[in-house]
Amino acid sequence: LSLGQLEEARRALDAPLFADVAGDAHVSFEFFPPKTDRMEAAMWDAVQTLAPLGPRFASVTYGAGGTTRDRTHGTVARIARETSVPAAAHLTCVDASRDEVDAVAREYWAAGVRHVVALRGDPPTMSERFVPHPKGYANAADLVAGLKRLHPFEISVAAYPERHPDSANDDADLDNLKRKLDAGASRALTQFFFEPETFFRFRDRAAAAGIGAEIVPGILPVSNFAQTRKFAGLCGAAIPDWMGRLFEGLDDHPAARQLVAATIAAEMCRKLYAGGVRHFHFYTLNRAELSYAICHLLGLRPQAGEARAAA
Ligand code: FAD
Repeated sequence: LSLGQLEEARRALDAPLFADVAGDAHVSFEFFPPKTDRMEAAMWDAVQTLAPLGPRFASVTYGAGGTTRDRTHGTVARIARETSVPAAAHLTCVDASRDEVDAVAREYWAAGVRHVVALRGDPPTMSERFVPHPKGYANAADLVAGLKRLHPFEISVAAYPERHPDSANDDADLDNLKRKLDAGASRALTQFFFEPETFFRFRDRAAAAGIGAEIVPGILPVSNFAQTRKFAGLCGAAIPDWMGRLFEGLDDHPAARQLVAATIAAEMCRKLYAGGVRHFHFYTLNRAELSYAICHLLGLRPQAGEARAAA
């Protein structure tokens, strides 16, 4: 950051809450494919609540080993069909040959899906090491190249502000991100993190390594602290001590927990905005309220056309 930019960031942080937002923030939302009819109804409710905010895209995750193949496809196709939000489908390399992965990608293209979030994926048991399928894509960079050969997909990939657990060091991790972008991806969506400085440091290191593509912070509005702590441990994201203290004693107070969750996520987004971030990717966990509230604070309002399209 230049001195001028630092001054600007400081002014924005000193301003009354969110007074500096200028209607220039963009968002995207991530959902997971629901397992039951009830979960499907809840997810769809979240999609319909969030769609009028005019997100850049809504993405749907892909379960380990292709276990959600049909459900991911069904969900993503429904978003493409029934809303005006561009749909993005996640796709992984786990336990599948190139032909099988290519077949899924072709189905996405045929369903009108033009954006893929291309991932290596994890073994079904998280503690095991990833071993590529003998006839499969070796990693995400390999998958990006394969997808580009099939169709001119828009492709997003994953990035890790706190380094991927399989990476030998920070430089190797950035080299890997660079390989994915060089293979044809146009943006990186980050793993969640809880300190804005973690993101800023990563963004600076990426820029210094010559990465010019957009790096979009992944925002996880946490309301289930115990579950988040467990998941963060598996994927190498640090949980700050202050966060544990803020959730202490709230197990039996869901409404208070929700308010605390919104405060934490909103404060982080406020700082990210002050630091120049203009695209936020929300891990919605198929719930709208927290993401909606933070988007509102960031200046997003329902757009009439989008609301009609989502209805
Ligand atoms: P890659 O970028 O291929 O690599 C991960 C690590 O492997 C690298 O950091 C590096 O250490 C090593 N590596 C890769 N290639 C090489 C090489 N040539 N030489 C040496 N080392 C190498 N998982 C799912 O199962 N489904 C999802 O839908 C899903 N969505 C996600 C969305 C986002 C935004 C994020 C951040 C993650 C998501 N994940 C998902 C999790 C992801 O699959 C795991 O984090 C996985 O462990 C790594 O995937 P990747 O695409 O980052 O892998």
